Amino acid sequence: MAIANPIAPPAVSEETLQRPWRFDVFARWPWLKRLVRMRTFQFLAILPNLLLFYLFLIAGLFGTPVGNRNIIIVFVWILWWFVLITVMVPLGSRVWCTMCPLPFFGDWVQRRAVVLVHPGKSPGTENRFFGLHRRWPKQLSNIWLQNLGFLFLATFSALLVTRPIFSAVVFGVLFALATGLALVYRLRTFCNYVCPISGFLSLYAMTSTVELRSVDKNECLKCSSKACIRGSEKGWACPWNVYMGKLDRNNYCGLCFECVKSCPNDNISLFVRPFSTSDVILRGYDEVWKACIMLVLALTYSVMLLGPWGRFKDWANVSEVRNWGGFGLFAAGQALLALVIFPGLYYLSIRLAKWYAKADSIPTKELFLKYAYALVPMGLLAWIAFSVPLLMVNGSYIVSVISDPLGWGMNLFGTAEFPWAPLWPEWVPFIQVPILLAGFYYGFRGMHKVGRQLFSDPAQLYRSLLPPAVLLLAVTLVFLKLFVG
Ligand code: SF4
Ligand code: SF4
Ligand code: SF4
Repeated sequence: MAIANPIAPPAVSEETLQRPWRFDVFARWPWLKRLVRMRTFQFLAILPNLLLFYLFLIAGLFGTPVGNRNIIIVFVWILWWFVLITVMVPLGSRVWCTMCPLPFFGDWVQRRAVVLVHPGKSPGTENRFFGLHRRWPKQLSNIWLQNLGFLFLATFSALLVTRPIFSAVVFGVLFALATGLALVYRLRTFCNYVCPISGFLSLYAMTSTVELRSVDKNECLKCSSKACIRGSEKGWACPWNVYMGKLDRNNYCGLCFECVKSCPNDNISLFVRPFSTSDVILRGYDEVWKACIMLVLALTYSVMLLGPWGRFKDWANVSEVRNWGGFGLFAAGQALLALVIFPGLYYLSIRLAKWYAKADSIPTKELFLKYAYALVPMGLLAWIAFSVPLLMVNGSYIVSVISDPLGWGMNLFGTAEFPWAPLWPEWVPFIQVPILLAGFYYGFRGMHKVGRQLFSDPAQLYRSLLPPAVLLLAVTLVFLKLFVG
């Protein structure tokens, strides 16, 4: 994981030089820039979600234990998940983080302000922060905690998506953790290193069709204030400790827009760009493993929830079936597949790529990291394909639960008795197949783009691409088999 060093001189990376087109949104629609510059902007974006979150907690703790009658399950695990993975991430990068309520109280206790900015001299910033403002340990400054945390929660996904109380407790714990860490550690340490949602948001935000970037990096070279990261009297220091002058990937920008407020040179803008084309470099093993974990989880969820193998579903669903031996097998198998077997297969494909392309001069680690981008669009699109039937089959629960959010027998809008009605289920495979094929296409294309920077000889390039492409194709075929039989 690479969070930019604030002081080091900006380096324009190779991939930045070969950037595809981008369209300056703020230049075209200046009212949007005025909107995000309003000091109230983020608060107003978070407030509705904060209120909803509170309702979800109440529903989880005191509402019906029947999952599909409780708003926390239906809204979070059907509606929110679908919108997040199919719309927000691919089209809006980390726009969910703009409006996420989890760090709200943490920000508040650190800043002692909800809207205003306090100028000051807290270490490394031009703002006044409260709390201990400690640095997070260097050994933990990566996304391994997020990888393991997400895998752990995913192991209990059957509980999470069926038991409202369990979801409420997990979200309550995350909320308390975000606030507690903000009291001890500086800025959004929770978001950067702990939040389990952050890991996959950071990975899949790479594919997104928007980016927040400096307009002119040379301007940043001349800029002495570095207000984008250090803050100013107009905006808080970047909560994610990102320096705009060097930013060339979406991964760790939480789109809070504080830097847009504080940059004295008006040098930051929002750009639209092509899907899955610009940020194509993974920078550490933690990110590669994240890509592997997410792809494997998409696979095991599909087996568990969509496939015909009831036994796996029973193993995962320990709270109802109470088969602890089966659950242990499921948990160990999933962890082994995600942490050892699939990364091992990918490593093998890279060793083969090196051998077949006779690329002795390129370190295995470099090829391993660089070709791993292929797993990013593949993983995102597999998750999208997985989520389509989730909404189409279970979407009608949203209509009924709106009228009776706690399952107490209310009928607020007259839709409480809306029957379960799957929406065109026969169309699901026809939607899933092109999505999966697009995942293969974008994965291969990303690898090809990176490969071109490594190999000048086209024949050598294609030989190097062949083994990981075969792995990618095999993964695509497994998903196709699962989704369409
Ligand atoms: S990183 Fe996690 S807690 Fe932080 S804003 Fe994003 S989703 Fe919310
Ligand atoms: S404050 Fe603005 S001009 Fe200065 S380094 Fe940051 S983005 Fe560049
Ligand atoms: S201050 Fe700017 S760079 Fe930092 S997280 Fe917010 S939007 Fe991203």
